[in-house]
Amino acid sequence: MKVLVINCGSSSIKFELFEMPREKVLAKGIVEKLGEAGSRLRCRMNGHETALEQPIADHDEGLRLIVRTLTDTGHGGIGDRREIEAIGHRVVHAGEAFAHTVMITDEVIRALEDHVDLAPLHNPPNLLGIAVAREVFPGVPQVGVFDTAFHQTMPKQSYLYPVPYEFYVEHRVRRYGFHGTSHRYVAERAAEMLDRPLSGINLITAHLGNGASITAIEGGRSVDTSMGMTPLEGLVMGTRCGDIDPALMVTVARLTGKSMVEIDRILNQESGMLGLTGMSNDMRTLEDAAAKGNERADLALDIYSYRLKKYIGAYTAVLGTVDALVFTGGVGENSDVVRRRCLSGMAPLGYDLDQRINDRTRSSETVISTPESRAKVLVIATNEELMIAKDTFELAGA
Ligand code: ADP
Repeated sequence: MKVLVINCGSSSIKFELFEMPREKVLAKGIVEKLGEAGSRLRCRMNGHETALEQPIADHDEGLRLIVRTLTDTGHGGIGDRREIEAIGHRVVHAGEAFAHTVMITDEVIRALEDHVDLAPLHNPPNLLGIAVAREVFPGVPQVGVFDTAFHQTMPKQSYLYPVPYEFYVEHRVRRYGFHGTSHRYVAERAAEMLDRPLSGINLITAHLGNGASITAIEGGRSVDTSMGMTPLEGLVMGTRCGDIDPALMVTVARLTGKSMVEIDRILNQESGMLGLTGMSNDMRTLEDAAAKGNERADLALDIYSYRLKKYIGAYTAVLGTVDALVFTGGVGENSDVVRRRCLSGMAPLGYDLDQRINDRTRSSETVISTPESRAKVLVIATNEELMIAKDTFELAGA
């Protein structure tokens, strides 16, 4: 069965076509800058690279161009769109509505529309992608995979904020968590690497990309995660601040005259590693700078790693015993520097890194701890698209 996975952003559509259950990638690409100057499509399919730069007005035109490209046999395509038998959509926020992947129905769409106020930047393009795909592929089953779903197993003690309870009851103010599809994928892979059933092990999974979150997973169920009501809470990220004193916002507003909306934007887009260094949100650039003696870059790396270490310690306490700590995402998979700094001095807590293996491990499935380490430390490349394709195949193929 051919499954098309779609990740619709505000001005881009990422796509990947899988042959399932073989998990073979047939095509992968992106249309970007929708409705802007320089809009373009890039696609890799059957050894063919397609790159088109042409006006693409909106998501509807974008998806139709993707379908034309995927079915263009001259570029290694599949010939007939009817071969695409199911579509999986990445959806950011499903609130408390869905704890699992679901078939998309009118009722599901209404429930997601109901969550637009919780994810005003992400859910509208996700919904648009679903609407366009239903039009372009009439009658083809569509499946929704939600970033928040995996964390719906968190107990109240981890998801409630200590604020007036009415905020939760009346306005759904609580911690939801994100990156669920990635945490779930690497947890399943970790169980396979350890050759143990997921239901019988405890894991800490650190997804460190541009956004970053860490999750405590007990027997396959998320029991705590660092992102909260929005993806701003938790770890230091590329441009997001992570945990701060909430009164900082009011104080900064008073001191600078900036509005809450402006400060919210700064905390999301101009803080984190970019804010600390004033240089870049890209970990590679910052590691290079630190290696050349840039003190701010070095300090930012220390702050990033120190806060990550605190979460690892906290989640070790939450779980009691940890079978494996998993690093994933662009930074987690590639940055031996961050892994080394956040695990320094952690051997007594159960995390003993093999420095030589750590230093050379990039984006592969590797054990990077010593044989003596109580918990295994793993690097696992995440694959959210494959997880979405697997879920979609499971639901639509049945
Ligand atoms: P996104 O969250 O946008 O999917 P990624 O998971 O691709 O992002 O992670 C992007 C981050 O990974 C960037 O900060 C990038 O610098 C970092 N990264 C990628 N490769 C390396 C590397 N070799 N060493 C250190 N950091 C890396």
